[in-house]
Amino acid sequence: MQTTTRIIIAGAGIGGLTAALALLQRGFDVTVFEQAPELKELGAGIQIAANGSRVLIELGLEDKLKPIICEAASKEVRLWNTGQSWKLFDLGADSIKRFGAPYWMVHRGDLHRVLLEAVQALKPDAVVTGAQVDGFTQSDGIVTVQLADGRSFTGNALIGADGVHSKLRSQMFRSPQARFTGLMAWRGLAPMDKLSPELQRPVGTNWIGPGGHVITYPIRGDSLLNFVGLVENVTWTRESWTEAGTKEECKADFEGWNPLIHEVIDVMSTPFRWALVSRDPLPVWTEGNVTLLGDACHPTLPFLAQGAIMAIEDGLIVARCLEEQPDDINAALKAYEALRTERTAAIVRGSEANLHRFHNQALAETQTAVEYVEREWEPDKVRKRYDWLFEYDATHVPIPA
Ligand code: FAD
Repeated sequence: MQTTTRIIIAGAGIGGLTAALALLQRGFDVTVFEQAPELKELGAGIQIAANGSRVLIELGLEDKLKPIICEAASKEVRLWNTGQSWKLFDLGADSIKRFGAPYWMVHRGDLHRVLLEAVQALKPDAVVTGAQVDGFTQSDGIVTVQLADGRSFTGNALIGADGVHSKLRSQMFRSPQARFTGLMAWRGLAPMDKLSPELQRPVGTNWIGPGGHVITYPIRGDSLLNFVGLVENVTWTRESWTEAGTKEECKADFEGWNPLIHEVIDVMSTPFRWALVSRDPLPVWTEGNVTLLGDACHPTLPFLAQGAIMAIEDGLIVARCLEEQPDDINAALKAYEALRTERTAAIVRGSEANLHRFHNQALAETQTAVEYVEREWEPDKVRKRYDWLFEYDATHVPIPA
Protein backbone atom coordinates (compact mmCIF):
# COMPACT_ATOMS: atom_id res chain seq x y z
CA MET A 1 0.00 0.00 0.00
CA GLN A 2 1.40 3.42 -0.92
CA THR A 3 -0.47 6.30 0.71
CA THR A 4 -0.03 10.04 0.54
CA THR A 5 -0.79 10.25 4.24
CA ARG A 6 2.07 12.15 5.84
CA ILE A 7 3.00 11.27 9.40
CA ILE A 8 5.28 13.54 11.40
CA ILE A 9 7.14 12.08 14.38
CA ALA A 10 8.81 14.23 17.04
CA GLY A 11 11.89 12.43 18.42
CA ALA A 12 14.21 9.88 16.80
CA GLY A 13 14.70 7.75 19.91
CA ILE A 14 13.92 4.05 20.16
CA GLY A 15 10.13 4.51 20.02
CA GLY A 16 10.11 7.20 17.31
CA LEU A 17 12.34 5.16 15.00
CA THR A 18 10.36 1.94 15.58
CA ALA A 19 7.15 3.77 14.65
CA ALA A 20 8.85 5.36 11.61
CA LEU A 21 10.07 1.99 10.34
CA ALA A 22 6.73 0.24 10.86
CA LEU A 23 4.90 3.12 9.11
CA LEU A 24 7.32 3.30 6.18
CA GLN A 25 6.97 -0.47 5.72
CA ARG A 26 3.19 0.11 5.45
CA GLY A 27 3.58 2.74 2.73
CA PHE A 28 3.10 5.92 4.78
CA ASP A 29 5.22 8.99 4.13
CA VAL A 30 7.12 9.67 7.36
CA THR A 31 9.32 12.54 8.57
CA VAL A 32 11.02 12.41 11.96
CA PHE A 33 12.20 15.63 13.58
CA GLU A 34 14.99 15.10 16.13
CA GLN A 35 16.33 17.86 18.34
CA ALA A 36 19.90 16.49 18.55
CA PRO A 37 22.26 18.07 16.00
CA GLU A 38 23.55 14.60 15.10
CA LEU A 39 22.57 11.05 15.94
CA LYS A 40 25.40 9.37 17.79
CA GLU A 41 25.82 6.48 20.19
CA LEU A 42 24.24 7.36 23.52
CA GLY A 43 23.33 5.35 26.58
CA ALA A 44 24.34 1.91 27.74
CA GLY A 45 22.50 -1.42 28.05
CA ILE A 46 18.84 -2.13 27.39
CA GLN A 47 17.11 -5.45 28.00
CA ILE A 48 14.77 -6.66 25.27
CA ALA A 49 12.53 -9.43 26.57
CA ALA A 50 10.46 -11.67 24.25
CA ASN A 51 7.65 -9.10 23.95
CA GLY A 52 10.15 -6.64 22.44
CA SER A 53 12.35 -8.98 20.37
CA ARG A 54 9.19 -10.37 18.75
CA VAL A 55 8.47 -6.88 17.34
CA LEU A 56 12.04 -6.27 16.19
CA ILE A 57 12.06 -9.64 14.42
CA GLU A 58 8.71 -8.84 12.75
CA LEU A 59 10.25 -5.57 11.53
CA GLY A 60 12.99 -7.62 9.81
CA LEU A 61 15.88 -6.58 12.08
CA GLU A 62 16.99 -9.97 13.43
CA ASP A 63 19.94 -10.47 11.06
CA LYS A 64 21.30 -6.99 11.74
CA LEU A 65 20.88 -7.34 15.50
CA LYS A 66 22.24 -10.90 15.87
CA PRO A 67 25.94 -9.94 15.84
CA ILE A 68 25.53 -7.22 18.48
CA ILE A 69 23.01 -8.59 20.95
CA CYS A 70 23.66 -11.06 23.74
CA GLU A 71 21.29 -13.86 24.47
CA ALA A 72 21.80 -14.53 28.18
CA ALA A 73 21.31 -18.13 29.31
CA SER A 74 19.51 -17.18 32.52
CA LYS A 75 18.82 -14.55 35.16
CA GLU A 76 20.02 -14.89 38.68
CA VAL A 77 19.75 -13.07 41.97
CA ARG A 78 22.83 -12.63 44.20
CA LEU A 79 23.39 -11.29 47.69
CA TRP A 80 25.17 -7.96 47.81
CA ASN A 81 27.85 -9.04 50.31
CA THR A 82 28.42 -12.82 50.18
CA GLY A 83 27.57 -13.20 46.50
CA GLN A 84 25.37 -16.26 47.24
CA SER A 85 23.28 -16.82 44.12
CA TRP A 86 19.89 -18.28 43.08
CA LYS A 87 18.63 -18.86 39.55
CA LEU A 88 15.55 -16.71 38.85
CA PHE A 89 14.58 -18.14 35.48
CA ASP A 90 16.11 -19.64 32.34
CA LEU A 91 16.39 -17.51 29.23
CA GLY A 92 18.09 -18.57 25.97
CA ALA A 93 16.22 -21.48 24.38
CA ASP A 94 13.72 -21.44 27.24
CA SER A 95 12.51 -17.92 26.34
CA ILE A 96 11.91 -19.06 22.75
CA LYS A 97 10.15 -22.22 23.89
CA ARG A 98 7.91 -20.51 26.45
CA PHE A 99 7.28 -17.13 24.83
CA GLY A 100 8.07 -17.73 21.15
CA ALA A 101 10.87 -15.15 20.99
CA PRO A 102 14.37 -14.63 22.48
CA TYR A 103 15.51 -12.47 25.40
CA TRP A 104 18.17 -10.03 24.16
CA MET A 105 20.53 -7.66 25.91
CA VAL A 106 21.81 -4.85 23.72
CA HIS A 107 23.62 -1.51 23.80
CA ARG A 108 21.04 1.25 23.29
CA GLY A 109 23.39 2.84 20.74
CA ASP A 110 23.57 -0.39 18.70
CA LEU A 111 19.79 -0.86 18.65
CA HIS A 112 19.34 2.81 17.77
CA ARG A 113 21.81 2.56 14.87
CA VAL A 114 20.13 -0.55 13.43
CA LEU A 115 16.70 1.12 13.61
CA LEU A 116 18.05 4.32 12.03
CA GLU A 117 19.72 2.44 9.16
CA ALA A 118 16.53 0.48 8.48
CA VAL A 119 14.49 3.72 8.38
CA GLN A 120 17.02 5.43 6.10
CA ALA A 121 17.11 2.40 3.78
CA LEU A 122 13.41 3.00 3.08
CA LYS A 123 13.56 6.81 3.02
CA PRO A 124 17.07 8.32 3.13
CA ASP A 125 15.93 11.77 4.29
CA ALA A 126 13.28 10.55 6.76
CA VAL A 127 15.15 11.80 9.84
CA VAL A 128 15.83 15.53 10.14
CA THR A 129 18.34 16.39 12.88
CA GLY A 130 18.81 19.73 14.64
CA ALA A 131 15.03 20.08 14.53
CA GLN A 132 13.50 20.67 17.94
CA VAL A 133 9.71 20.49 17.91
CA ASP A 134 8.28 23.36 19.90
CA GLY A 135 4.54 22.82 19.51
CA PHE A 136 1.69 22.26 17.07
CA THR A 137 -1.71 23.47 15.92
CA GLN A 138 -4.33 21.42 14.11
CA SER A 139 -7.41 22.11 12.08
CA ASP A 140 -9.48 20.18 9.52
CA GLY A 141 -7.31 17.09 9.78
CA ILE A 142 -4.04 18.95 9.12
CA VAL A 143 -1.43 19.25 11.85
CA THR A 144 1.15 22.06 11.67
CA VAL A 145 4.33 21.47 13.61
CA GLN A 146 6.44 24.41 14.75
CA LEU A 147 10.16 23.98 15.20
CA ALA A 148 12.19 26.01 17.68
CA ASP A 149 14.14 27.64 14.81
CA GLY A 150 10.94 29.13 13.36
CA ARG A 151 10.31 26.62 10.57
CA SER A 152 6.95 24.87 10.32
CA PHE A 153 5.75 21.70 8.59
CA THR A 154 2.38 20.14 7.95
CA GLY A 155 1.18 16.56 8.01
CA ASN A 156 -1.93 14.46 8.52
CA ALA A 157 -0.83 13.18 11.94
CA LEU A 158 1.76 13.96 14.60
CA ILE A 159 3.25 11.35 16.92
CA GLY A 160 5.07 12.76 19.94
CA ALA A 161 7.96 10.38 20.67
CA ASP A 162 9.97 13.08 22.39
CA GLY A 163 10.86 11.19 25.53
CA VAL A 164 10.46 11.62 29.24
CA HIS A 165 10.53 15.45 29.19
CA SER A 166 8.09 15.62 26.25
CA LYS A 167 7.17 19.14 25.12
CA LEU A 168 4.19 17.80 23.21
CA ARG A 169 2.81 16.14 26.34
CA SER A 170 3.13 19.48 28.16
CA GLN A 171 1.21 21.26 25.42
CA MET A 172 -1.57 18.65 25.31
CA PHE A 173 -2.07 17.72 28.95
CA ARG A 174 -1.09 18.75 32.40
CA SER A 175 2.05 16.62 32.82
CA PRO A 176 1.72 13.97 35.52
CA GLN A 177 3.30 15.14 38.74
CA ALA A 178 6.89 13.91 39.02
CA ARG A 179 7.80 12.40 42.40
CA PHE A 180 11.49 11.99 43.16
CA THR A 181 11.94 8.48 44.57
CA GLY A 182 15.05 9.27 46.60
CA LEU A 183 16.87 6.80 44.34
CA MET A 184 19.72 7.44 41.98
CA ALA A 185 21.15 5.07 39.38
CA TRP A 186 24.77 4.76 38.27
CA ARG A 187 25.43 3.19 34.92
CA GLY A 188 28.65 2.23 33.19
CA LEU A 189 30.25 -0.26 30.79
CA ALA A 190 33.13 -2.56 31.69
CA PRO A 191 35.26 -4.34 29.06
CA MET A 192 34.55 -8.02 29.57
CA ASP A 193 38.13 -9.15 28.92
CA LYS A 194 39.34 -7.12 31.92
CA LEU A 195 37.00 -8.95 34.32
CA SER A 196 37.51 -12.19 36.19
CA PRO A 197 35.90 -15.34 34.68
CA GLU A 198 33.10 -15.34 37.26
CA LEU A 199 31.82 -12.07 35.80
CA GLN A 200 32.16 -13.22 32.21
CA ARG A 201 29.31 -15.76 32.38
CA PRO A 202 26.41 -15.14 29.95
CA VAL A 203 23.85 -14.35 32.66
CA GLY A 204 21.88 -11.34 33.81
CA THR A 205 22.41 -10.74 37.53
CA ASN A 206 20.40 -8.79 40.10
CA TRP A 207 22.67 -8.10 43.07
CA ILE A 208 20.29 -7.21 45.88
CA GLY A 209 21.13 -5.48 49.14
CA PRO A 210 19.90 -3.19 51.89
CA GLY A 211 19.48 0.31 50.44
CA GLY A 212 20.54 -0.54 46.90
CA HIS A 213 20.85 -3.04 44.11
CA VAL A 214 23.06 -3.65 41.09
CA ILE A 215 22.09 -5.13 37.72
CA THR A 216 24.80 -6.55 35.47
CA TYR A 217 24.48 -8.19 32.07
CA PRO A 218 26.58 -8.70 28.91
CA ILE A 219 26.02 -6.63 25.76
CA ARG A 220 27.66 -6.05 22.36
CA GLY A 221 28.42 -9.68 21.54
CA ASP A 222 29.64 -10.34 25.13
CA SER A 223 32.41 -7.74 24.83
CA LEU A 224 30.99 -5.39 27.48
CA LEU A 225 29.38 -5.85 30.88
CA ASN A 226 26.57 -3.36 31.49
CA PHE A 227 26.41 -2.06 35.08
CA VAL A 228 23.44 -0.27 36.66
CA GLY A 229 23.77 0.43 40.38
CA LEU A 230 20.93 1.97 42.37
CA VAL A 231 21.24 3.64 45.73
CA GLU A 232 18.70 5.12 48.14
CA ASN A 233 18.53 8.33 50.13
CA VAL A 234 20.40 10.53 47.71
CA THR A 235 20.03 14.23 47.05
CA TRP A 236 20.92 14.01 43.33
CA THR A 237 17.69 14.91 41.53
CA ARG A 238 18.59 15.42 37.82
CA GLU A 239 16.63 13.11 35.57
CA SER A 240 19.15 13.03 32.73
CA TRP A 241 20.98 10.37 30.72
CA THR A 242 24.11 12.42 30.20
CA GLU A 243 25.38 13.47 33.67
CA ALA A 244 28.84 12.07 34.31
CA GLY A 245 30.10 11.22 37.82
CA THR A 246 33.34 9.65 39.04
CA LYS A 247 34.29 6.07 39.85
CA GLU A 248 35.28 7.19 43.36
CA GLU A 249 31.76 8.52 44.00
CA CYS A 250 30.27 5.35 42.55
CA LYS A 251 32.51 3.08 44.67
CA ALA A 252 31.69 5.06 47.82
CA ASP A 253 27.99 4.36 47.22
CA PHE A 254 28.72 0.61 47.21
CA GLU A 255 31.06 0.49 50.19
CA GLY A 256 30.95 -2.95 51.84
CA TRP A 257 29.52 -4.66 48.71
CA ASN A 258 31.07 -7.78 47.21
CA PRO A 259 34.58 -7.29 45.71
CA LEU A 260 33.20 -8.35 42.30
CA ILE A 261 31.05 -5.18 42.25
CA HIS A 262 34.14 -3.07 42.94
CA GLU A 263 36.07 -4.96 40.28
CA VAL A 264 33.46 -3.90 37.70
CA ILE A 265 33.48 -0.26 38.82
CA ASP A 266 37.30 -0.19 38.79
CA VAL A 267 37.53 -1.10 35.10
CA MET A 268 34.40 0.54 33.71
CA SER A 269 34.25 3.67 31.58
CA THR A 270 33.11 6.99 33.07
CA PRO A 271 29.99 6.29 35.10
CA PHE A 272 26.82 8.32 34.43
CA ARG A 273 24.08 8.94 36.97
CA TRP A 274 20.41 9.74 36.77
CA ALA A 275 17.75 10.42 39.39
CA LEU A 276 14.75 8.08 39.41
CA VAL A 277 11.43 9.85 39.19
CA SER A 278 8.02 8.24 39.24
CA ARG A 279 4.81 9.54 37.65
CA ASP A 280 1.22 8.32 37.52
CA PRO A 281 0.23 6.96 34.10
CA LEU A 282 -1.78 9.28 31.82
CA PRO A 283 -5.38 8.07 31.29
CA VAL A 284 -5.46 9.38 27.67
CA TRP A 285 -2.79 10.76 25.33
CA THR A 286 -4.50 11.51 22.00
CA GLU A 287 -6.00 14.81 20.87
CA GLY A 288 -7.45 14.98 17.34
CA ASN A 289 -4.73 13.76 14.97
CA VAL A 290 -1.93 14.01 17.54
CA THR A 291 -0.83 11.22 19.85
CA LEU A 292 2.12 10.27 22.04
CA LEU A 293 4.21 7.14 22.45
CA GLY A 294 6.97 5.72 24.64
CA ASP A 295 8.38 7.72 27.53
CA ALA A 296 6.40 10.77 26.38
CA CYS A 297 3.16 9.17 27.61
CA HIS A 298 4.17 6.42 30.06
CA PRO A 299 7.59 7.12 31.57
CA THR A 300 8.41 4.35 34.01
CA LEU A 301 10.85 3.34 36.69
CA PRO A 302 13.21 0.68 35.33
CA PHE A 303 12.35 -2.11 37.81
CA LEU A 304 10.64 -4.35 35.25
CA ALA A 305 13.12 -3.46 32.46
CA GLN A 306 10.22 -2.60 30.13
CA GLY A 307 10.67 1.13 29.28
CA ALA A 308 12.25 0.68 25.87
CA ILE A 309 10.09 -2.35 25.09
CA MET A 310 6.86 -0.41 25.72
CA ALA A 311 8.07 2.21 23.21
CA ILE A 312 8.82 -0.57 20.69
CA GLU A 313 5.38 -2.16 21.19
CA ASP A 314 3.73 1.29 20.85
CA GLY A 315 5.63 1.95 17.61
CA LEU A 316 4.34 -1.17 15.91
CA ILE A 317 0.79 -0.90 17.24
CA VAL A 318 0.30 2.74 16.26
CA ALA A 319 1.45 1.81 12.74
CA ARG A 320 -0.87 -1.20 12.60
CA CYS A 321 -3.81 0.98 13.73
CA LEU A 322 -3.06 3.63 11.09
CA GLU A 323 -2.81 0.92 8.44
CA GLU A 324 -6.23 -0.37 9.48
CA GLN A 325 -7.94 3.04 9.29
CA PRO A 326 -5.78 5.33 7.09
CA ASP A 327 -8.81 7.46 6.20
CA ASP A 328 -9.84 8.19 9.78
CA ILE A 329 -6.68 9.14 11.59
CA ASN A 330 -8.35 10.23 14.81
CA ALA A 331 -10.17 6.89 15.06
CA ALA A 332 -6.90 5.04 14.34
CA LEU A 333 -5.02 6.96 17.03
CA LYS A 334 -7.83 6.46 19.53
CA ALA A 335 -7.78 2.72 18.78
CA TYR A 336 -4.01 2.67 19.39
CA GLU A 337 -4.45 4.54 22.69
CA ALA A 338 -7.25 2.19 23.80
CA LEU A 339 -5.03 -0.82 23.10
CA ARG A 340 -2.11 0.58 25.09
CA THR A 341 -3.32 2.48 28.16
CA GLU A 342 -4.21 -0.46 30.40
CA ARG A 343 -1.08 -2.51 29.73
CA THR A 344 1.36 0.39 29.98
CA ALA A 345 -0.27 1.65 33.20
CA ALA A 346 0.05 -1.85 34.70
CA ILE A 347 3.77 -1.85 33.83
CA VAL A 348 4.32 1.61 35.30
CA ARG A 349 2.56 0.55 38.53
CA GLY A 350 4.29 -2.86 38.60
CA SER A 351 7.70 -1.21 38.29
CA GLU A 352 6.90 1.10 41.18
CA ALA A 353 5.76 -1.87 43.27
CA ASN A 354 9.09 -3.58 42.55
CA LEU A 355 10.98 -0.59 43.89
CA HIS A 356 11.75 -1.97 47.32
CA ARG A 357 11.78 -5.65 46.42
CA PHE A 358 15.36 -5.38 45.19
CA HIS A 359 16.72 -3.53 48.19
CA ASN A 360 15.26 -4.46 51.48
CA GLN A 361 16.52 -4.13 55.05
CA ALA A 362 16.01 -7.90 55.50
CA LEU A 363 19.06 -8.26 53.27
CA ALA A 364 21.38 -6.64 55.81
CA GLU A 365 21.88 -9.89 57.78
CA THR A 366 22.77 -13.11 55.96
CA GLN A 367 20.23 -15.30 57.82
CA THR A 368 17.25 -13.00 57.18
CA ALA A 369 18.56 -12.30 53.67
CA VAL A 370 18.42 -15.96 52.65
CA GLU A 371 14.87 -16.31 54.02
CA TYR A 372 13.86 -13.10 52.24
CA VAL A 373 15.21 -14.22 48.85
CA GLU A 374 13.67 -17.69 49.11
CA ARG A 375 10.29 -16.18 50.02
CA GLU A 376 10.26 -13.17 47.68
CA TRP A 377 11.91 -14.79 44.63
CA GLU A 378 10.18 -18.13 44.86
CA PRO A 379 9.60 -19.51 41.26
CA ASP A 380 5.78 -19.18 41.24
CA LYS A 381 5.96 -15.55 42.37
CA VAL A 382 8.62 -14.80 39.78
CA ARG A 383 6.49 -16.33 36.99
CA LYS A 384 3.50 -14.27 38.11
CA ARG A 385 5.57 -11.11 38.00
CA TYR A 386 7.11 -11.63 34.57
CA ASP A 387 5.15 -14.06 32.35
CA TRP A 388 2.34 -11.62 31.51
CA LEU A 389 4.95 -9.14 30.28
CA PHE A 390 6.80 -11.56 28.02
CA GLU A 391 3.68 -13.30 26.59
CA TYR A 392 2.23 -10.12 25.04
CA ASP A 393 2.30 -10.19 21.24
CA ALA A 394 2.14 -6.73 19.67
CA THR A 395 2.42 -8.31 16.22
CA HIS A 396 -0.94 -10.07 16.60
CA VAL A 397 -2.98 -7.96 19.04
CA PRO A 398 -6.34 -7.65 17.22
CA ILE A 399 -6.74 -4.14 15.79
CA PRO A 400 -10.32 -2.79 15.83
CA ALA A 401 -11.54 -1.81 12.34
P1 FAD B 1 13.89 8.20 24.00
O1 FAD B 1 14.62 6.99 23.56
O2 FAD B 1 14.33 8.91 25.21
O3 FAD B 1 13.88 9.20 22.74
C1 FAD B 1 13.35 10.51 22.75
C2 FAD B 1 13.99 11.27 21.59
O4 FAD B 1 13.30 12.49 21.40
C3 FAD B 1 15.44 11.62 21.85
O5 FAD B 1 16.20 11.31 20.71
C4 FAD B 1 15.39 13.11 22.11
O6 FAD B 1 16.60 13.77 21.75
C5 FAD B 1 14.23 13.52 21.22
N1 FAD B 1 13.55 14.77 21.61
C6 FAD B 1 13.25 15.19 22.87
N2 FAD B 1 12.57 16.34 22.82
C7 FAD B 1 12.43 16.66 21.50
C8 FAD B 1 11.81 17.74 20.80
N3 FAD B 1 11.17 18.71 21.46
N4 FAD B 1 11.87 17.75 19.44
C9 FAD B 1 12.51 16.75 18.75
N5 FAD B 1 13.12 15.73 19.37
C10 FAD B 1 13.07 15.67 20.71
N6 FAD B 1 17.51 3.46 28.72
C11 FAD B 1 18.18 2.43 29.27
O7 FAD B 1 17.55 1.45 29.69
N7 FAD B 1 19.55 2.43 29.33
C12 FAD B 1 20.28 3.47 28.85
O8 FAD B 1 21.51 3.45 28.93
C13 FAD B 1 19.60 4.57 28.26
N8 FAD B 1 20.28 5.63 27.77
C14 FAD B 1 19.61 6.65 27.17
C15 FAD B 1 20.35 7.72 26.62
C16 FAD B 1 19.67 8.77 26.01
C17 FAD B 1 20.47 9.92 25.47
C18 FAD B 1 18.25 8.79 25.93
C19 FAD B 1 17.53 9.93 25.23
C20 FAD B 1 17.51 7.74 26.50
C21 FAD B 1 18.19 6.67 27.12
N9 FAD B 1 17.51 5.58 27.68
C22 FAD B 1 18.18 4.54 28.21
C23 FAD B 1 16.05 5.60 27.74
C24 FAD B 1 15.41 4.68 26.78
O9 FAD B 1 16.00 4.75 25.51
C25 FAD B 1 13.96 5.12 26.71
O10 FAD B 1 13.41 5.08 28.00
C26 FAD B 1 13.12 4.18 25.92
O11 FAD B 1 13.80 3.67 24.84
C27 FAD B 1 11.85 4.89 25.48
O12 FAD B 1 12.07 5.42 24.19
P2 FAD B 1 11.44 6.76 23.66
O13 FAD B 1 11.61 6.68 22.18
O14 FAD B 1 10.10 6.99 24.22
O15 FAD B 1 12.36 7.92 24.25
